[in-house]
Amino acid sequence: MKQAFIALGANLADPRSQIASALQEIAALPHTRLMRVSSLYRSAPVGYTAQPEFVNAVCEVATGLAARALLGALLEIERRHGRERSFANAPRTLDLDIALYGDEVIDEPGLIVPHPRMLQRAFVLLPLAEIAPQLSIPGVGTVADQLAGVAGQEIERIPGELWRPA
Ligand code: ADP
Ligand code: MG
Repeated sequence: MKQAFIALGANLADPRSQIASALQEIAALPHTRLMRVSSLYRSAPVGYTAQPEFVNAVCEVATGLAARALLGALLEIERRHGRERSFANAPRTLDLDIALYGDEVIDEPGLIVPHPRMLQRAFVLLPLAEIAPQLSIPGVGTVADQLAGVAGQEIERIPGELWRPA
């Protein structure tokens, strides 16, 4: 089993319920157990700013799926949520990214882990730091040590608990 961290984001069609139902679908993936889920966060859009704010979260799974199979399963969940790929940083009903997959470094067409932009994104690092501050990012250092690099980005924790282990 690998410990993997998945970043979730949505800014269309009731983003909170998109995230909540995506978590249920992740929990139901074969050979996969949902271990921890961060709070929800609201964040300002990056890149293309003329769109609604985002809702983000990060979850930890223990999975027997290979990284490729996990990515395929996540893209399938996105597709079921009506995700369309129009342009970079476009609004989306659901975005699921593999932030980390164990301590593996993967650089293949269509799959790069650790996720290449996670270190620049408060909406990945803050929720990740909430559930795994001492986790080490391969070749980088701990999650907590990376937070200074995203200080000042517009992001706010939404109070309340989203999910707890059964
Ligand atoms: P973004 O998440 O950067 O806004 P998309 O969600 O449209 O962009 O993803 C485009 C492609 O990124 C996916 O089809 C996938 O193959 C690729 N990709 C590469 N590395 C990863 C990763 N670690 N997690 C998710 N997708 C990834
Ligand atoms: Mg994505």
